[in-house]
Amino acid sequence: MKTLVLGGGVVGVTTAYFLAKAGHEVTVVEEKDALGLEATASNAGIIAPGHSFAWASPRAPRMLLQSLRGEETAIRVRLGPDLRLYTWGLRFLRECTAERARRNTLVKLRLCQYSQAVMNELVAAERLQYDAITKGALYLYRDAAELEAGVKKMALLAEHGQKQEILGAAEVARLDPVFEPVQGKIAGAIRDVGDSSGDGRLFVENLARVCREALGVTVRLGARVTALRGEDDRIESVLTSQGPLTADNYVLALGVGSPSVARTAGVSLPIYPAKGYSSTFPLKPRGLAPTVPGVDERWLVGWSRLGDRLRLTSTAEFAGYDWGWTPRDFNNILRLARDLFPDAADYDQGQYRACLRPMTPDGPPILGLGRHRNLFLNCGHGHMGWTMACGTARIVADLMTSRMPELDLAGLTLRR
Ligand SMILES: Cc1cc2nc3c(=O)[nH]c(=O)nc-3n(C[C@H](O)[C@H](O)[C@H](O)COP(=O)(O)OP(=O)(O)OC[C@H]3O[C@@H](n4cnc5c(N)ncnc54)[C@H](O)[C@@H]3O)c2cc1C
Repeated sequence: MKTLVLGGGVVGVTTAYFLAKAGHEVTVVEEKDALGLEATASNAGIIAPGHSFAWASPRAPRMLLQSLRGEETAIRVRLGPDLRLYTWGLRFLRECTAERARRNTLVKLRLCQYSQAVMNELVAAERLQYDAITKGALYLYRDAAELEAGVKKMALLAEHGQKQEILGAAEVARLDPVFEPVQGKIAGAIRDVGDSSGDGRLFVENLARVCREALGVTVRLGARVTALRGEDDRIESVLTSQGPLTADNYVLALGVGSPSVARTAGVSLPIYPAKGYSSTFPLKPRGLAPTVPGVDERWLVGWSRLGDRLRLTSTAEFAGYDWGWTPRDFNNILRLARDLFPDAADYDQGQYRACLRPMTPDGPPILGLGRHRNLFLNCGHGHMGWTMACGTARIVADLMTSRMPELDLAGLTLRR
């Protein structure tokens, strides 16, 4: 069975792996000159079922309103003449009730937990190196009231299987000495014991090597997919900048590129980009740097140590397909870095970029068939794609090889 996996991010490459393992003859098609250079290369690095909360929540509409008034908020919107933003936005607002937020969070949590188990198996089987840190993740709170509210909120995840510890400032500092000198600035943290971190780009590079060398996967770089061509309920070919390509099956895993390509076959995907800012700094040789990944829940900056580098990311901005950034966009990140980790890294040597999360209005990704019987969707992983990739890849590969997925697909297929 010949299969084209469209997209060489973490979602595409993990899908290629499971399909090749199941006997498919796989080609990955990627427009860049290397794999995993988009959202996969820039994320906060946290593998975080403990952060499965749906963004569409009862708090979100107020935040969006504040952002429209020009206030600095974690979720921002920049209105423009883009009809897709408005249709997507209305669907997002519809998901902002307490009941839907809870349901969507639990769908995501279940998938994240499953994905983590699949990833652990894959990493052990292939002995993959990706600068992993497996000491949990810290969700950090600045004052006692915020910590108390955080504990209440996190209880939902604890009730559904996440092992958590509530730590005071001194306990946080015992777990990660980077907090020793700044204990006075935090009230404490919730540690999700099972969360971890690692470098998504390195993971993709090493997994792609296994795919190519042990499983015969072909990787076609520099090939931009421009359209799908088909009749009725079958895709016949994909048009690319390197000419048309044909296969028996196709997997759409183009991240934020998925909706425009899907549209060429008449498939409408509710995916819109949420821009984030990502920075990476070299660690100081004898500096005091974080050893546990985490998120500052007030300033909404996430961090993780990736080998000899420190990654910090922040912000969700609904501003269309815009990869631009200015130094000002990193003020929040640098303020946090200098506040909590002043001695960790050389903050004059940062690598900065903006990148786009492929967000669905409700949060869970879109998996499986749409209206074509040989076009499989694996897209819309939003802010959790590094965490979910292995699980969604396994599910889609199972569907394509007529195996029953281990996870119930409720809430994970194409939603209208
Ligand atoms: C700031 C930020 C922080 C994040 N932090 C975390 C985190 O801590 N934990 C977590 O789990 N997730 C996190 N994420 C989310 C995660 O990075 C994404 O969900 C995940 O990378 C999506 O993977 P993907 O393979 O679908 O997309 P991508 O990594 O973007 O890959 C898509 C690929 O398709 C290619 N492509 C697109 N269009 C075309 C085309 N037309 N033709 C050919 N190729 C094309 C692209 O070049 C790219 O290589 C974060 C994201 C951001 C932006």
